[in-house]
Amino acid sequence: MIIDNEKIQKTLDYKTDKKELEDILAKSKDLQRLSLHDVSVLLNTNDKEDIQKIFKAANQLKEKIYGNRLVLFAPLYISNLCTNDCAYCAFRISNKDVKRKALSQEEILKETEALLKTGQKRILLVAGESYPKEGLDYVLKSIDTVYSARDGKNNIRRLNVNLAPLEVDDFKRLKERDIGTYQIFQETYHEKNYAKMHTKGPKSDYNYRLTAIDRAFEAGIDDVGVGILFGLYDYKYEILALLSHIEHLENKFGMGPHTISVPRLEPATGSDIASTPPYPVADDDFKKIIAIMRLAVPYTGLILSTRETPEIRGESFDLGVSQISAGSKTNPGGYTDGDSMTQFSLGDHRSLDEVIYDVCSHGYIPSFCTSCYRLGRTGLDFMEYAKPGDIKKKCLPNALNTFYEYLEDYASQETKAIGKTVLEKGFEDLPTDKVKSFVTKSMQKIKEGQRDIFC
Ligand code: SAM
Ligand code: SF4
Repeated sequence: MIIDNEKIQKTLDYKTDKKELEDILAKSKDLQRLSLHDVSVLLNTNDKEDIQKIFKAANQLKEKIYGNRLVLFAPLYISNLCTNDCAYCAFRISNKDVKRKALSQEEILKETEALLKTGQKRILLVAGESYPKEGLDYVLKSIDTVYSARDGKNNIRRLNVNLAPLEVDDFKRLKERDIGTYQIFQETYHEKNYAKMHTKGPKSDYNYRLTAIDRAFEAGIDDVGVGILFGLYDYKYEILALLSHIEHLENKFGMGPHTISVPRLEPATGSDIASTPPYPVADDDFKKIIAIMRLAVPYTGLILSTRETPEIRGESFDLGVSQISAGSKTNPGGYTDGDSMTQFSLGDHRSLDEVIYDVCSHGYIPSFCTSCYRLGRTGLDFMEYAKPGDIKKKCLPNALNTFYEYLEDYASQETKAIGKTVLEKGFEDLPTDKVKSFVTKSMQKIKEGQRDIFC
């Protein structure tokens, strides 16, 4: 059994004391994985001072493992066709107001070029659960189209996908396309609640969705992302269930997900649930969720999208988020004409350049690094590299190089000015003369027009 309801409920009902909290925080300081019980103690912590201790521990752990880098990406919606009826989504089949559209390959090329022109290098390809008549071939062709787009010497260097579950053979075909992460959110792990939210179409099969990552792993995809749609059910239950899912994957395949996404429900046209979530998650609880996730699975990336406001995003950097989307549109064609209905409304409407400026002003280094995936440091190999110390040898130089490229090619004057300070500070933090020399030489080459230098 992947999700054991009774066990989760029993774990959540346990009453704790302050001493135990201290022990758990000490354990996380040593970068030890936390048990379901430990996480439940953290989730049930309500005292303000104790919550600040959790935040501080999450911040220290983030700093140790991820340093002060933040990886940036943007979603690319290729189609809003969908046969499901997810109660929270504007693209669901019963929403007759949405004009259905699957972008042509030409349109996908234009959208990708528009994203490249803003400076993006990493894309998350998204679609509803129904493809034009070519079926999965439509998605595979779209991936090739995205990778073929160019803006001068720049191209999309990593494409992740967020797609409906597939059979093993189809996952194999997806893997052949050189995808980065295969991402799928269970939305809610509570089976009964899941049934209420997903009444029609293939997505109504809870188990088929829950076992999607098993099939992806069986097909050889070793880089996967999971997530919960917060607001659909009790967040404490959801987090313990997600960790049970991860435990299942680790026991069966020896590895867990590369990333966890933490979307919160946002208003969506034609959905009552989206505007009045059955289990709303307040901002303070949301921040607690991020910090606890950071502590619970230290080596798993945490992704925060533009569903959240600039304020919450800013606060989340210190609590453990390692990747953010920026300059996002959630409708097919959104980057070129933008008329069609969006999947949900956004909390952050700023451009990539504005977000980058903000990231810099928080003291973080914006990164477009794609090195691990390009050099095959994924799955179990990635875990070897994700140990503290290696970050400064690999991730930091790559972050500095990719950020320098952005400043040279796409940044506004204001961002260039603040970016220069961030680069200088980042350079100081490089661990050895050898790494410093690599970055100095790379930057010289970038200045002379070379692109895509990584280690
Ligand atoms: N259609 C596929 C699926 O459902 O798995 C692919 C991705 S779907 C377009 C992307 C994600 O958007 C969903 O997994 C869901 O978590 C999220 N989503 C849908 N409606 C939302 C809303 N109103 N607010 C926030 N996120 C939403
Ligand atoms: Fe379709 Fe995905 Fe929206 Fe559900 S969340 S209606 S599957 S696009």
